Amino acid sequence: MARIELDHIRHAYGERPKSEADYALKEVHHTFVDGSAYALLGPSGCGKTTLLNIISGLLRASEGRLRFNGVDVTELSTQERNIAQVFQFPVVYDTMTVYDNLAFPLRNRGVAESEVDRKVRETLEIIDLASLADRRAAGLGADQKQKISLGRGLVRSDVNAILFDEPLTVIDPQMKWVLRSQLKQLHRRYGFTMVYVTHDQTEALTFAEKVVVMYDGQIVQIGTPDELFERPSHTFVGYFIGSPGMNVLPVGVEGSRARLGNQIIELPSAPTAARQDFELGIRPEFVRLGREGMPVRIEKIEDTGRRKIVRAELEGREIALIAAEEEEIPAEPHVTFAPEGINLYADSWRVDLGDGAGR
Ligand code: ADP
Ligand code: MG
Repeated sequence: MARIELDHIRHAYGERPKSEADYALKEVHHTFVDGSAYALLGPSGCGKTTLLNIISGLLRASEGRLRFNGVDVTELSTQERNIAQVFQFPVVYDTMTVYDNLAFPLRNRGVAESEVDRKVRETLEIIDLASLADRRAAGLGADQKQKISLGRGLVRSDVNAILFDEPLTVIDPQMKWVLRSQLKQLHRRYGFTMVYVTHDQTEALTFAEKVVVMYDGQIVQIGTPDELFERPSHTFVGYFIGSPGMNVLPVGVEGSRARLGNQIIELPSAPTAARQDFELGIRPEFVRLGREGMPVRIEKIEDTGRRKIVRAELEGREIALIAAEEEEIPAEPHVTFAPEGINLYADSWRVDLGDGAGR
């Protein structure tokens, strides 16, 4: 298994990129730690597949270098990089049996037949296809073919990394859950470096130790689910993670006082950045409803059973807040912001408020 270093990677699909907008990957400079499980999360079109294909070697980046355990692999082929990749849609040999499909990548690498048999049978159990081992792939449904693809990725435990590109899209929800927990267990057992692409935040947050959030051709944050929730490094992470997402309000800051319209909000400390215009980020969970603080106008209450999502207007801006199911809405509603929930952003990037967590 390998530590994967992405050293100033940029990629444009077109021949002659004219501006930053022509780059599918703008500047990716990060390291994936050896043996860790990462979920790569971001909206459709943000560059997840492009990044994965650059790591596996299916695509050669326009700029930058790639290293596995310190060794430069930028010029190496997919084969030489020794990476297993599972795609969104099945890639199987229709004329081969299920067993041979799994054995193929091992035989290809000259693995002894007894070891091939052991690994293939073990993997068939994991993907729940042992009973179909001798069936030809051609006769199987899309979800079973996708399980074969998964198996072909998992059968090799000697790879530098396993990359999954939204691999459970065609699998039914019940089976999805089973396969996901199987993957988790396998990762614990073998400790492979794993990158798992998804656009589903629940899948990402429940699955991985570290979540890599991508937005517009960049990695905007790598963190644990808690870090992404409490300290989003970019306002996009705040919107994208959590439901509803973080409130972002334009404020003018002087010292440790933020001004929002006619209201003053005390910040935990003064930002070090020498400017006045910032965005204040506060998650709905940290906005308290009461009789004191900043006056709001309630616009909508969505009762979700356990809790209420309240949409309100504060100084001409819409904000969301969470109230407990039994909580009464005061006749003259006001809100306060819990200080521990306040984040400050300059041009969408988080700034330090004395807790060392800014950029
Ligand atoms: P994701 O996997 O996050 O949905 P992709 O990596 O597939 O995103 O795409 C990133 C951007 O690159 C998108 O704007 C997409 O249209 C563009 N793109 C992807 N593949 C190609 C290609 N083969 N040729 C040209 N543009 C592409
Ligand atoms: Mg994709």
